[in-house]
Amino acid sequence: MAMRINNTLPSPQELKKEYPMSERLVAMKVRRDKEIRDIFTGRSDKFLVIVGPCSADNEEAVCEYVNRLSRLNEDVSDRLMLIPRIYTNKPRTTGEGYKGMLHQPDPDKAPDLYAGILAIRKMHIRAMEESGLTAADEMLYPENRSYLDDILSYEAIGARSVENQQHRLTASGMDIPVGMKNPTSGDLSVMLNSVAAAQMGHRFIYRGMDVTTDGNELAHAILRGGVDKYGTCIPNYHYEDCVRLLSLYEKMELKYPAVVIDANHSNSNKAFKEQIRIVSEVLHSRKHCRGVRSLVKGVMVESYLEEGRQDICEHMKYGKSITDPCLGWEDTKELIKKIAQEC
Ligand code: PEP
Ligand code: MN
Repeated sequence: MAMRINNTLPSPQELKKEYPMSERLVAMKVRRDKEIRDIFTGRSDKFLVIVGPCSADNEEAVCEYVNRLSRLNEDVSDRLMLIPRIYTNKPRTTGEGYKGMLHQPDPDKAPDLYAGILAIRKMHIRAMEESGLTAADEMLYPENRSYLDDILSYEAIGARSVENQQHRLTASGMDIPVGMKNPTSGDLSVMLNSVAAAQMGHRFIYRGMDVTTDGNELAHAILRGGVDKYGTCIPNYHYEDCVRLLSLYEKMELKYPAVVIDANHSNSNKAFKEQIRIVSEVLHSRKHCRGVRSLVKGVMVESYLEEGRQDICEHMKYGKSITDPCLGWEDTKELIKKIAQEC
């Protein structure tokens, strides 16, 4: 047999019973979800900043990071909606490498998926409890989101998953905003078809059940840059890209046209410090045209306690990314303050 069973896992219901959300957290999420919803429907003109490490690899460092964000939030919350990125499962380009806390609660130990689902739920709840902020994660494995579906305030579908039917149909049954990234090829029609599919209701099989969904009117686009056939990064955060996206949105008659600009990945070509300039250019584009201003609802920034990245090794630096390179804390703090002044 090419596949062996290592373990059977608790159901989402069992896990939620073991690690429940307190009433205070449930109320906090209701409040924040409404605020975030109002941004996507245009009732609020607050600007979204989805910010945090590429991968949430260490509970202590992630909670420290999110607590710093929470303190900063006190100064910027009248203009910004800060959503920490707590990404617990990572797509890998060739399949090799760290696949996130879900797979490896301890990055230098062997994978343990049972421990992983406990660890990610525990970390998300702790981060929320300590910071008062509800988080974003990537929906890499649609059936696994049930372990976190009472916790998250935002989910993204990655560049490598956005064309997948199960991701699209699952997104149609979510009541929080779901961002569809452009695929690595940069093809905008794949991304918008994904938005269209998620905005419609569907009937399909989910976790062994025959389910019907209502459609998710908060499904929207994320521009993360692309790569051409020669491997060259082609950014798509510029003014012209936003105008093009706006007109494609109009042609497709989708609900609540919206985009979040991911400043890292193929937009920065992983030159992480460029995120500062890219965000600044995005804010400038918003000032130039009302259509672009209402289309661009926010930015996504990869940031951690320490700047850059490191390989997994025996003496890893606390709070430094082990996947994509991130902006460090001081730069992040300045950037967020600047966004609050200029958006
Ligand atoms: C990420 O957000 O870290 C990520 C892997 O993004 P993408 O799917 O755009 O490559
Ligand atoms: Mn990343």
